[in-house]
Amino acid sequence: MSAVPLRNNKTVATDVRSVTVLGATGSIGDSTMDLLRGARDRYRVEALTANGNVPGLAKLAREFGARFAAVADPARLSELKEALAGTRIECGAGESAIIEAAARPADWVMAAVSGAAGLKPALAAVDRGATVALANKECLVCAGDFFMERAARAGACILPADSEHNALFQALASGHREELVRVIITASGGPFRTWAPADIERATLEQALKHPNWSMGQKITIDSASMMNKGLEVIEAAYLFALTPDEIDVLVHPQSIIHGMVEFSDRSVMAQLGVPDMRIPIAHCLGWPERIVGPSARLDLAKIGQLTFETPDFERFPGLRLAFEALRIGHGATTVYNAANEVAVAAFIAGRIRFGAIARLVEATINDWMRSGNLAPLGSADEAISVDHNARNKAAALLPQIALKAS
Ligand code: NAD
Ligand code: MG
Repeated sequence: MSAVPLRNNKTVATDVRSVTVLGATGSIGDSTMDLLRGARDRYRVEALTANGNVPGLAKLAREFGARFAAVADPARLSELKEALAGTRIECGAGESAIIEAAARPADWVMAAVSGAAGLKPALAAVDRGATVALANKECLVCAGDFFMERAARAGACILPADSEHNALFQALASGHREELVRVIITASGGPFRTWAPADIERATLEQALKHPNWSMGQKITIDSASMMNKGLEVIEAAYLFALTPDEIDVLVHPQSIIHGMVEFSDRSVMAQLGVPDMRIPIAHCLGWPERIVGPSARLDLAKIGQLTFETPDFERFPGLRLAFEALRIGHGATTVYNAANEVAVAAFIAGRIRFGAIARLVEATINDWMRSGNLAPLGSADEAISVDHNARNKAAALLPQIALKAS
């Protein structure tokens, strides 16, 4: 008998689990549907949602025999009804229909709507005590304390689907909270990792969309180029695992093979590795607490040859510095950080501001909010949504002057 407590005689779950995918037509949605496609006998699809992509949503709903399909754009209801004609799939449109999809009785929910729009649907799944695979980091950044409290109260199980947080979740299982010294979130450094500040300032949309390792949605790809994504992930980790800013480090690792590490008091550092493929962390969430057979490529370290590491540069990537600052300020500052960033990214995509102005707009919005002195803790989702709303308005108002100010 082995002295190592390996888990033997695994009990294989044989019951069919019902699943809902919020944001089924996006990049994470696509990876999730791919995994479900490979395990049709184990999962049944309850509900699928999309923003406006009716043909994509209807195709998936038909393929998986979903019971309910919802589109966020209320003007598209008749189009969705038409696309699902001849099936028994119920459908709905508008924000309330997305929330209804989340509230329907599925055992497991993938929360993969992009942006703060994902908060209310994710809360609807949390409130009925579901197992929620959380890809939407903005929920936590926007209303983290509150979100985790609601989850604990409802007995919901939050599984981190973001690759770094999923890595931390796996590594954290090797010790206890009081033995933890710090977590280390890795970052590829994005396409501008080695660029000079003046070149980053003027980077084009096309350049920002060329991520070296990961294939993702447009918003998160731009956030990766500015390292705002890593900033959002630092905040996400703080709320998910109840960590202080001093317990979180960021390490640039251009190969994106190690996704996260945890250092314990005995100086052991546990890491999770894998090829950069979101189906790996999603498969972990889908199978949890067991492991399923994943379709991703196997890791071949000899072929990769070298794993390298660098300290992040807070000056060339001020978005990362601002995330730590917002976390230290607390009381809604991370909500403002996220809201201003969403406005800034949309303005950059629309050609209204330079790439370098994204972080400047976020900083100016946080400073303005600090001056307003409204620093009470967030007590509800509505309060978080109100801070988010006000920050968006403020960021939009500050936009013209930021756009004029070239550094
Ligand atoms: P995406 O833009 O590819 O897809 C977003 C999905 O949400 C789509 O199905 C879209 O139809 C839907 N959607 C967008 N706005 C909506 C709204 N207002 N109401 C309802 N539905 C809406 O985004 P993505 O890359 O799949 O990212 C989704 C979330 O997962 C984001 O929060 C992102 O930060 C996070 N995430 C993504 C990755 C990745 O590899 N793509 C990795 C980690 C975390
Ligand atoms: Mg990530």
